[in-house]
Amino acid sequence: MAKSNQTVKGVKTKEKGYIRLFVQIFFFTLVGLIVINHALEESGKGISWLSSASLHAICPFGGVVSIYKFVTTGMFVKKIHESSFVLMFIMFILAVGFGPLFCGWICPLGSFQEWFGKIGKKIFKKRYNNFIPNKYDKYLRYLRYGMLALIIYKTATLGYLVFWNFDPYYTLFNFWTGEVAIGGLIVLGIIILASLFVERPWCKYLCPYGALLGIFNTFRIFKIKRNPSTCISCGACDRACPMNITVSKSRVVRNHQCISCLKCTSEYACPVAGTVQFATKGGE
Ligand code: SF4
Ligand code: SF4
Repeated sequence: MAKSNQTVKGVKTKEKGYIRLFVQIFFFTLVGLIVINHALEESGKGISWLSSASLHAICPFGGVVSIYKFVTTGMFVKKIHESSFVLMFIMFILAVGFGPLFCGWICPLGSFQEWFGKIGKKIFKKRYNNFIPNKYDKYLRYLRYGMLALIIYKTATLGYLVFWNFDPYYTLFNFWTGEVAIGGLIVLGIIILASLFVERPWCKYLCPYGALLGIFNTFRIFKIKRNPSTCISCGACDRACPMNITVSKSRVVRNHQCISCLKCTSEYACPVAGTVQFATKGGE
């Protein structure tokens, strides 16, 4: 009986894993199509039903770096549009409810690192994502806040998209257009290489937008909660977490690095039903 229950959980877990994968593929494809269409528009061959917006126009972080200029001059930073502001607010509302859902489910660069990292997982198995000693790693995780502050300050004082010069997200989707900066190519190359050893290296250490959304983990409405009374201390939740968060030691995950991927929950990794949940109540 126990074996049959495990089998049923295994199948359901797989199905639920596919839901997230489907969402990630959907957004990756959508962004790819929008970028290709934008390039085709310039030669009059665009797909009429698809948005002709550029990648900048559909980037919510563009809204964040434009706030200062918009408040002080009523204008956007060059290449940024109203749509970035709208997306920025939508992502903030989502984050108040569910944390950095954008990072775990939508961001194509996050998905790309995750998919590429599967090669590293195959090569290094259990050692994958565990190469950097915790005594250094725990401080390195705050680098992305320095990055966030630097980009906002530089964009505000210089008045243009300084991040564009080394933006791996822009580079990933535009490397074929010849419109990318050498800095972006170098950063993307380093991320691809690092993904073979560390899961989501950009998200963990340098992403300024992930840093901002991570703050919402401290007060979000739906949280990752663990019930210590049913926990069997197997550590499966810790091993499943791409961001190396020790879920097995928390009642409520408030870590700024959580990306709301749900991999640690009883729907996925935790073998005890109802022990790790994505919920509003209990555990605190
Ligand atoms: S596995 Fe859990 S704790 Fe880790 S990032 Fe995903 S949702 Fe957050
Ligand atoms: S996977 Fe579930 S049972 Fe195992 S340590 Fe984590 S919370 Fe406890």
